[in-house]
Formats: sequence, structure tokens, C-alpha cells
Amino acid sequence: MLRAISRGAAVQKPGPDNPDVTLITSTSPMTTPTHGGRAKCLQRLVRLDLPVPRTVALSFDTVHTLAGGYLPDVRDVLSEFDENALLCVRPSSEDPDWGGPGAVLNIGMNAEKHADLCTRIGETAATDIYLRFIQTYAVDVARLDAEMFDDIDGTGPAALKAALAVYEDEAEEPFPQDPAVQLAEILRSMARAWEGTTARLLRQAKGAPVDAGLGLVVQQMALGLGSGECGSGVLQLVNPSTGLPQITGRYLSQSQGREALDGDTASIFLEKDPRGPSLEELAPEAFAALKEHAALMRARLREEMQIEFTIEDGALHILDGVRVERSARAALKIVVRLAEDGIISKQEAVMRIEPRALSELLHRQVAANSPRDILGFGIAASPGAATGKIVFTSEAAQAMAARGEACVLIRRETSPEDIRGMHAAAAVLTERGGMTSHAAVIGRGLGLPCVVGAANMRFQAKRRSIVSVDGRTFREGDEITIDGTSGQVLAGSVEMIEATLDDTFRTFMSWADAERDIGVRANADTPADAKTALHFRAQGIGLCRTEHMFFEAERLTPMREMIFARDVKDRQAALELVLPMQRADFLELFRIMQGQPVCIRLFDPPLHEFLPTTRAGQRELAEALDLPVSDVTRRIESLSEYNPMLGMRGVRLGITVPEIYDMQARAIFEATVEAAKEGVTIVPEIMVPLVSAKREVELVRARVEAVAAAVRAEKGAAFSYRLGVMVETPRACLRAGDIAEHAQFLSFGTNDLTQMTYGLSRDDAGRFMSEYVRQGVFTEDPFHMLDTEGVGELLRLGVVRGRTARPNVVLSICGEHAADADSIAFCREAGFDYVSCSPFRVPVARLAAAQLALTDKMQYPSA
Ligand code: PEP
Ligand code: MG
Repeated sequence: MLRAISRGAAVQKPGPDNPDVTLITSTSPMTTPTHGGRAKCLQRLVRLDLPVPRTVALSFDTVHTLAGGYLPDVRDVLSEFDENALLCVRPSSEDPDWGGPGAVLNIGMNAEKHADLCTRIGETAATDIYLRFIQTYAVDVARLDAEMFDDIDGTGPAALKAALAVYEDEAEEPFPQDPAVQLAEILRSMARAWEGTTARLLRQAKGAPVDAGLGLVVQQMALGLGSGECGSGVLQLVNPSTGLPQITGRYLSQSQGREALDGDTASIFLEKDPRGPSLEELAPEAFAALKEHAALMRARLREEMQIEFTIEDGALHILDGVRVERSARAALKIVVRLAEDGIISKQEAVMRIEPRALSELLHRQVAANSPRDILGFGIAASPGAATGKIVFTSEAAQAMAARGEACVLIRRETSPEDIRGMHAAAAVLTERGGMTSHAAVIGRGLGLPCVVGAANMRFQAKRRSIVSVDGRTFREGDEITIDGTSGQVLAGSVEMIEATLDDTFRTFMSWADAERDIGVRANADTPADAKTALHFRAQGIGLCRTEHMFFEAERLTPMREMIFARDVKDRQAALELVLPMQRADFLELFRIMQGQPVCIRLFDPPLHEFLPTTRAGQRELAEALDLPVSDVTRRIESLSEYNPMLGMRGVRLGITVPEIYDMQARAIFEATVEAAKEGVTIVPEIMVPLVSAKREVELVRARVEAVAAAVRAEKGAAFSYRLGVMVETPRACLRAGDIAEHAQFLSFGTNDLTQMTYGLSRDDAGRFMSEYVRQGVFTEDPFHMLDTEGVGELLRLGVVRGRTARPNVVLSICGEHAADADSIAFCREAGFDYVSCSPFRVPVARLAAAQLALTDKMQYPSA
């Protein structure tokens, strides 16, 4: 038992049911939640009969009492080891990613042991070990300045004397000679380091709970220095960046710990290698044993492990095993190989990959070790990274793209007019906006890296420049990099890793799909989006926003003519010009989707978005329409609204200017007939946006039915379609029962629903959202993470009322929340049929959904 000598602090000492020092044997009580992952792993290695030096583990509770003020009497710990042994202490947290204090080696080294080691392993090695220990102890435990030892040259007796003198001067006491004192101070210092504020914040940022515990393991050292072949190294059986089988690591003679990885030129390869000497040649038996142990660890620990080993006079010791750190691409390869080798099940492979990590495979990324010169940051709105020259207008972006140069489009915020510029750009940066602002939504749809709401930089659109957080000015043409995964804006170009979608990815995703029990469709507006959606195995299009289709140059003019038309006939005439183009749009989508469902949302935005905002644009329009500029300006003014997002848009436009929906319905039906002739049978879905009352649906439905009847008669063709409602106003949720009478499907638009539930503008919330989250007003940006309480309550009401009125109504969600695992969990529980998200997030949603289904199966195996 570890006796605690109180220094007055009232800290609870571990009790009899909680042994505080446990020798790690194959049967000793040892769990990850009480002693940490390292201690548990060492026990597994002991069970495999691997040559692990004797080790004891201190539990989380014990370490916590050490930090709380007890100076332990560590004779109990020391009594577990040979009297002459040197010891090391390593941290053992529950999750290795949470970090912990660095390992301390060579504990117990003092004048007496030095003399003993001089005879056993030679003076040079003995002095080297003593010197290392003095320095580590001085810096990590006595908290002396590392620079104090800078002037000490060499590793001989003079250096040792000097180091001891420096210690004594600075610490104002001689270097402690009693191993018990050394060990006690080291344990206490490591325990306190873990409980310090900085360490706590750092691990919390990696997902550790506030009260995450630290265990410590004390292990007898195999020295790695001395006579015969001595040294240390690290081995793993995979390449950590590709995940492919390859023995990687290094070995360094006369070294300890992980020194072989420090870039020492004397470090050698493990396996025979044409590039230089190897351990296989130097110590063939030790290498063969090491390889064998590594294979056993992979099979029995069911993971790719990195082995830390030491060779002492030719004999191999396995000190530790940790999970190999890996890139996202390697992680996928590793789990697929483990499953294919029969080591883990396919289901376990599916559970082992974090869905968000898939984004890294689907987009180019900034290489992990690449230096970053950060100019500013905003909301990471669309993942991936791209470098380009900065431009401030859509026209400049298109011109740059035409010259074959990559550009980053910078705007205060984007609007539908910027679509072509966004298509031309490699990345987008905006000053304003949040997760569901225009730039963010379109960026994700296009797979375009995008950072929005970067208000900490100064945007000077007129001067065509931006000013970084630290005051540097970047002008049009200067090169920057947008990292839409981290939200950072970087100077110049940086090293990138390419996206990968190989067989491993496909195999893995097929395993996930086999478990999934909720559909995943894509929000896709263009043929390119639809191709991406199909490529990522979306089960159809859940939302095709049609308004973007009207911003093409040849459609903008008829649209404007339609807006300026004096009567119905003129309006219809203008829309006649748009009809064939719109029909071609839909036909193309139907062809690409090969019979999978396509849900087309009727026109949604306010009309004024189609009108020019500048004087020059208004003059041009006046010319095209043969009207005085004053007429044009007056009409534009008459269309302006105080709250356009709550104004004349969506179904309100469909009812007051019905010719637009008539034209769209006709285009959809004619494309359906055309597709059928080509052998593509499709049942199109028509969705009515921004509904808040049953009567709205009734009116639109009547007109759509009339158009369908007309097309059937004109074409002599039969087809069917489904009509549904986008539920995105709170009232539509509340009245979902009435509405479902006229709707075969209800698709919940959580972007507008969040906006209207909170009364919070989705385009302006970015300005104060981080402050709101920082102060805990919102736990998260509700445009980013579905508010399952408030917005969720409305969704649940809508689901229950809709289903009660029409039991077979198809339910889905198509807001930006749809790919998020928590939203999918919510949707599964609430009984939704599918989620629909940006094409590039389809794999993320497929995996998240599979994991939820598997978790349920594990919890309720017989269900
Ligand atoms: C929504 O409001 O949730 C939605 C999907 O539509 P949009 O983002 O186009 O308003
Ligand atoms: Mg909407």
C-alpha cells in the first residue's frame, strides 16, 4: 500500500477497495477507466507473454491524491523492483489523444548507481544516463530553466560535475540522491502537471471531460546503453500516412526512449533497406522476434500498434504499445485491412471511423505538417482547401478562370448573382454570413472550400484589398489559401494532400450501407451536383433548388422581362423563353439520376434578387426593355421589401404570380415524358416552398394538376408525379396535419425553420454567434447543429401531426443540418424516411446513419 504523508491538505486518500499501486500481471485488476489506456495495454502485452519489463500502475484516484498535496512514501512502489534497477514513469490517460506529461526515464540514478553502472556498462554510458536524468529532473520536476545546462559540454566526468553544480546552485539544495525522494517528487510533479489549467483546456479541446483522470505507470528500465548491442527504437507494421503494410520506424544504438525518431543520422532502418543499414542486419534475432511480437499484437489487440522497444545486450524488451497515429486515409485502409484479415468484424470497422473524418478524404486538405501563416479566420463553412489569387467580383473570378488561373473570390457576402463567380473560383471567403448563408450553402453544394463570417479581417472591397488580423494588406492578385476545414485564411500557397476515393473507400462504404436504416439523398441543383450525388451513392435528389437556374445570362433577361410584364399574357410570353431551358435542366438531372427520385423545389427567392442593383445595370436593363431608366428604378423600388426573407417569396409568389410555377410544372412534366422516351422512368417530386397554410397547397396543387392534365393530353403520354411541401415555417409544423392532406411528402427545411423559430437572421447571425456560444447562450450555432429542443419540438409536432393525418406521408429533412450525426439520430428517432444533404456530405451522412443503426443493434441485440 502506498502510504501518504499528509502535508496538511485535506485530500481523500484511496481506500481499501481502490488499491493505489498495482503490479501489472495477467490477472491484476486493471481497466482503462481506472488506470488508463497505457496500463491496460501493458497488461494485454503481459498476457501475450511478451518480454515486458516489470511494471506497476497507479490509478486515477491515486494520482489525483498526489496532485492534491500528499507527498507519497513510495517505498511500496520501489519494493516491487530490483534494488539496482532504474525506473521510468509514463502517463496513462483514458484516451491517448488527451496527452499527458512527458515520460521521465532513469529514475533512481545517483552517485552510488553511477559507480555501479560504471563497472557494469562502462563509464561513458553510465555518465550519459546520469547526465540525462539530472537535466530531466531539473527541468520537469525542480522547474529549473533548461538553458542553465546549455554551457555544459560533453558527456564525461567534468560535465557530470558541472551539471550537479548547476543543479545545486539553482535549486539551492544538492541533487536528491534517495530514489524514493526522486520518485515521489516525479510522481507528484506529473500529477500536478495534469491538473494544471493549460493541460486541462488542451485536453478538453480534444474532447476530454473536465474531470478526466490520469494514471501513471512505473516501469523497470531496460537501459539501451552499455556493452553488447544496446539501443532503442520504435516499430509499426503500417505506413502511417497510407495505411499500407510496411515496416516503418527506426532503431538507434546506444539510445533510450524515442531518441531513434529524433532525426539522429545514426538511426537505422528496421527491415533490410537499400538506402542504408538496418536492425535486421545488425541484430537479426532481435528483429525477427520483434516482427513476430508486432504481428501478435496486431492480431490480439485488434489494432495497428506502434511498439516502443529496447535492446539490452542483445536481449529484446517491449516497453510499450500505442495505437499508430494515422492520417484519415490510413485510418480507413487500416480498418478495412483488419476486417479483411478477419481480425475485426466489418461492423467494428464501420464503428471505428469518425464520420467527419471522411470529409478529409473527399476534399483536398492542407497537409498536417505544413507551416501556416494565418491571416485571419471565420466559420469553416465548406471543407477542403484551395489556393488562388484574390479577386473581389464574380466577373474577375470568371476572367481569371478563363485564363486558367485559380482564384479565391472574396465578397462581403454572396448572393445568387455570384453563382457564376463561385463556379469559377477555387474557394470563397466572405466577411459576413453563417453556416446557412448563401456562400456556405452553395460552397458545400459545389464542394468548394469556403470560409464565411471572417469579420476579424478588414474587407476593403472598393480598394480591392483585405487586411489581415495582424495588419498586413493583401491586394487583388495576391495569393492566399482558404482552409474551409479549419476556417483559417492563410498567406500564399501551402502543401496539400489530394482527395482519395479508391476501392478501400467504396468497400468501407458498402459495409456501412449494409447497416443503415434511413435513406440519404443529396441536395443537388446542377448536373455537376447530381453527378457528385450519384458518385457518392445518394439515393436520389432530396432538394433541387431551381432558382440558381435563372441566373444564367440567357435566362436573366426573360426573367426580368417577366418581372416587368404588364399583364399575364406578357408574363407568359417571357416565361415561354425560359421553358425549354428549364425543361432541358430537368431532363439532364433525370438522365443523370437514372430513375432515382428527384425532388424539385419550385421557385423560392424574392423577385428583386433578379434585378440589377447598380445604376449602370439599371441603365442596361432600361435599354433592353426599351423603358426609361426612371421606370426601371421605380419598379425596382416597388419590389423592395423591409424583410425580403419573410416577404414575397416561395409559395406566396407562386400564388400571386402563378405563371412561374405553371411554367416550372410544365417543364418538369415535359422532361418526364422526354426521359421516358429515352428509357428513364421517373416519378418526379414537386415541392412547394415556404408554406404556412393548407390553402396555399390547395391552390398550387390545383394548378399543377391542371398543367399535368394538359401535358398528358398534348403529349398523349401517361406519367405520375408526387406533390409535397417544404415545411420550413413554424406554422407549417403546427398545421402539418392539414397540410399533409394535400401533400404526399413533407420535407423539413431546417435552415428557414431555425431562422424563424429563433427569429434569427441566417445571414447575419455570424456577427455575434461566436460571442453567444462563448457566453453559453447557445451551446452551438443552431444553424450548424440542429436545436433538438426548440426547433426539434416543432419537427416532432410536424412529424406526428403529418403522419396522423396521412400515415404513408414520406418525411425527410433537407436543411444543412442533415449530414450531422446528431441530426440523423434525431431524424431516425422521430421516424423520418430520409435525410438530404450537400452531395459532398453524403458519405458522411451514410456513415453516421450506419453507426447509429449499429449502436442500436448493440444496445438491443434481439430487436
Ligand atoms: C431550408 O430552408 O432549410 C432549405 C433547405 O432551403 P433554403 O436553404 O434554400 O432556404
Ligand atoms: Mg428555405
